[in-house]
Amino acid sequence: MEVSRKLERRKTMKRRRAAWRIAIYLFAISVKPDIRSRNWLECRRGLLKQYSALPAAVKAEARRQGRRQIRDAGLAVLGSAIVALPKQKIRQPVPTPDPSARPKCAVCRSQWGPKALWPTQEEAEQFLVRIGDSGRMRAYCCPSAFGFHVGRMPGRC
Ligand SMILES: [Zn+2]
Repeated sequence: MEVSRKLERRKTMKRRRAAWRIAIYLFAISVKPDIRSRNWLECRRGLLKQYSALPAAVKAEARRQGRRQIRDAGLAVLGSAIVALPKQKIRQPVPTPDPSARPKCAVCRSQWGPKALWPTQEEAEQFLVRIGDSGRMRAYCCPSAFGFHVGRMPGRC
């Protein structure tokens, strides 16, 4: 009994990780993952169906973006934030890769400490897209030219 319970748990974990991965891929390309199932197996099946329906190029882009986000933030952190548990709602606001995990600027500070740095404006803007910013914040060049920041006050560039 003990052995089969362990096996069952391992299977559940595997399904959960698979569901997380697909949900992250979908989320990465701004497709809202459809999470309505009663268990991880159904959850994974539903997500897979949603994912399979996408055009091949979109799927490839979703995998590319999703894998990078998983690398940055970790599968469990990101996956659990997006999927939570089947039956539960997506948490609001949806957490995204944490800017505090980014390299920090040696010069600029926000009220929370040194500002996070992005190597290119494009990546800083992608971050804003990912966190669903509605245009309040902008990506701007660090005044010291070490990289790019996001914030409400655009710097001079
Ligand atoms: Zn700076």
